[in-house]
Amino acid sequence: MMDYDFDAVIVGAGIAGLGCGSLLASNGFRVAVYDELNYIGGRATTTNFRGYTIDTGLHALSRGDVSSVADLLARINRKIELAGWSEGVSVWENDRWQDISELRQVSPAYNENFKKVIKAVIEISYQDIDRLDDVSLKEWVEGITEDQDVHDFFNYLGMMITTLTDWKEMAASEVIYEMKKNLEKKGQLLTAGFPKGGTINLVKPMVETIRDRGGIILTGTGVDEVIIEDGKVIGVTVENVTGDAPKNFEDWLIYDTEFLRTNTVICAVPIWNLEAILTSEDFPSWFISKINSLARETSSAIGYILGLDEPLWNDNKFRVSLSLPQTNLPLQCYSPSNIDPDSAPEGKFLLSMGCPCETENALDKWWVREGLEILWDDLNYIFPGLDEHVEWTLPARYVGIDGLAKKPGMVGKYKPDIKAPGVDGLYFAGDTYRGRGVGMNSAAESAMKCVEKILKDRTSKK
Ligand SMILES: Cc1cc2nc3c(=O)[nH]c(=O)nc-3n(C[C@H](O)[C@H](O)[C@H](O)COP(=O)(O)OP(=O)(O)OC[C@H]3O[C@@H](n4cnc5c(N)ncnc54)[C@H](O)[C@@H]3O)c2cc1C
Repeated sequence: MMDYDFDAVIVGAGIAGLGCGSLLASNGFRVAVYDELNYIGGRATTTNFRGYTIDTGLHALSRGDVSSVADLLARINRKIELAGWSEGVSVWENDRWQDISELRQVSPAYNENFKKVIKAVIEISYQDIDRLDDVSLKEWVEGITEDQDVHDFFNYLGMMITTLTDWKEMAASEVIYEMKKNLEKKGQLLTAGFPKGGTINLVKPMVETIRDRGGIILTGTGVDEVIIEDGKVIGVTVENVTGDAPKNFEDWLIYDTEFLRTNTVICAVPIWNLEAILTSEDFPSWFISKINSLARETSSAIGYILGLDEPLWNDNKFRVSLSLPQTNLPLQCYSPSNIDPDSAPEGKFLLSMGCPCETENALDKWWVREGLEILWDDLNYIFPGLDEHVEWTLPARYVGIDGLAKKPGMVGKYKPDIKAPGVDGLYFAGDTYRGRGVGMNSAAESAMKCVEKILKDRTSKK
C-alpha cells in the first residue's frame, strides 16, 4: 500500500469540488480531486449523443457572465464563453402560448401593484433577505399586494428559480436574492446564459488550473471514508484502482482501499452522499440528525431530451407552464440548438425539458413511467407536430436538481455550514451547503466560501 501526501483532498469533481480544487491550487496547494463517476462535472455535465451535444437536462446559468460561477472563474483568471441568452418567456395558459408580458390585461392597477413588488426587491438589503429564510414567497408577495395577476407572475418566476411546484413552498429569501442580483447586474428580474459547448465548459478551466499547478484529478475512483482521529482529519481511504479483479464481478466484490494522508479534506458531495463516507461517532449528534433529516429534501423532475429533424420554433424563449393539461405538472423547456447551433447537426433541433415534481414521486419507478407517458401526450398537445419530427428521445428522471430544496426553513442559515463541527480540517462545499443562488451558482458560492475559510484557518494556525 502506498502513501500519498496532498495539501488537500477533495471528494467530488462537480462544480464545487473542481472549484475548490482550482482555487486552492492557485493558492499553492497540491490537491487531489476524486470522483466515483468516470466523468467530471457531476450533475452539470455534457455529453455527445448522435451528433448532438447535450447537457444533463435543462441547464441555464442565471446571470451568465456575471454569475457566481463567473466570479469563481475570475479568481483563477478565467472567463465564461457564452453561446447566448434566453430571450423572454412564453407561457402555456388558457390553451395557448402567450408571451409572459402579454399574459394579463395590463391594467393601471396591475402595473402599479407590480411596481410595488419590484420596488420592495430593489429596496430590501441583503441582510434583510437573510431574515426571510423561513418565509414563503407567497407570504412575502401577499404582504405587498393582493393583486391576483401579480401573484401569478411571481409564482411563475418562483417556479423557474426554485424548480418547485407551489409558491407556498418556495423560500422568499432565495427568490428575492435571485431577482435582486439579476436586477443589479443585468437590469432584468431573471436572466439565463448558456455556456458555449455546454456546462462542461464551466469546469474545464478549473481542471486545467488544477493540473497546471501539479494537482491530480482521478475519476472512476470513489472515496471510501474520511479518516478522523482525535477530532482531526488525518486522511481518506480511496478505492484501490490498481486491483485486477474481474470487471463483471464488480458489484459483488469488496475492493481494497488505499490510504492517502492529508490534514484537509473537502467533502464536495451532496448531503445525501455524506453518510457513505463519514462515521457518525466523529460528529456531534445534532449534526448527524440534521444531515439525516435534510438528505431527501431536494427538488426533482421528469422530462425528455429530444432530437427533431426540423425546428419547432426559431426563437430563444423559455417555454413554461404552471400546470400542463393532463399531468398537471409545471413545465420548463427550451431549445439548446436555437441558442447554440453547434449543439445539433445542421437543420436539426434539440429540445430539453423538465417538469418539476415531488421527490417522492420521482423515486417511484411506476409513477415515473406513467408520468412520462402522459407527459408525452401533453407535449404533443402543446407542441403540435412533435411526434412527426422526433428522431430520438431520452426520457429522464432527475432527483437532486437544486441541492437542498429551496423551501422555507431549508435555505441560507439553515443549510449546513462549510466547516464541519468538532472536526479540525474537514470542510463541505456544494449546492447543499451554505451559499445562495440557483444550483450552479450556489455550488460556486459555497466553494468560494469554503476556500476562504480554509485559507483563514491556515493563516490563524501559523
Ligand atoms: C436535471 C438538472 C437540471 C439542472 N438545471 C440547472 C440549471 O438550469 N441551472 C443551475 O444553476 N443549476 C441546475 N442544476 C443544478 C446543478 O447541476 C447543481 O447545482 C450543481 O451541478 C451542483 O454541483 P456540486 O458540485 O455541488 O454537486 P455535484 O455536481 O453533485 O458533484 C458532486 C460529485 O461528488 C461525487 N461523489 C459523491 N460521492 C462520492 C464519493 N464517495 N467519492 C468520490 N466522489 C463522490 C459525485 O459523483 C459527483 O460528481 C440542475 C441539476 C439537474 C440534475
